[in-house]
Amino acid sequence: MTGPDSAPVEDRRDSWEGPIPVPTGANTEFWAATLEGELVYQQCEECGTAQLYPRAVCTGCGVVGPPFETSSGVGTVYSYTVCHVPGEPGFGDRTPYVVAAVDLEEGPRLLALVDCEPADVEIGSAVAVTFWQVSDEAALPVFVPH
Ligand SMILES: [Zn+2]
Repeated sequence: MTGPDSAPVEDRRDSWEGPIPVPTGANTEFWAATLEGELVYQQCEECGTAQLYPRAVCTGCGVVGPPFETSSGVGTVYSYTVCHVPGEPGFGDRTPYVVAAVDLEEGPRLLALVDCEPADVEIGSAVAVTFWQVSDEAALPVFVPH
């Protein structure tokens, strides 16, 4: 199902030492899409709210099971932080690393790693998604300068 617009998925199953997402409930479809290089979000047909991460109900109006749409994977950095002290086990040899709140062009905002030097990111930077596959079930959305 990998479409022409899907992002690259890099296999890091042998080297990743950080946390591994466990697909469950409302986020099952989200993680399945990551393995195909697609970043999906929920777009409520009732009130128009676009949300990430996936939830069982719309945060805008409470409707159950808002449907998924595929994002272009392109966004801008709303805010970011440079982590010098690892916030999770397995990140120790990765510092300093960049974590950003990224506004996708479709509207939803998500927190994600930005794979670049801290000097190469600033508020408003254009970024695009790529994926690091960390298990048989999930690939982490990671952004790179675009
Ligand atoms: Zn809604």
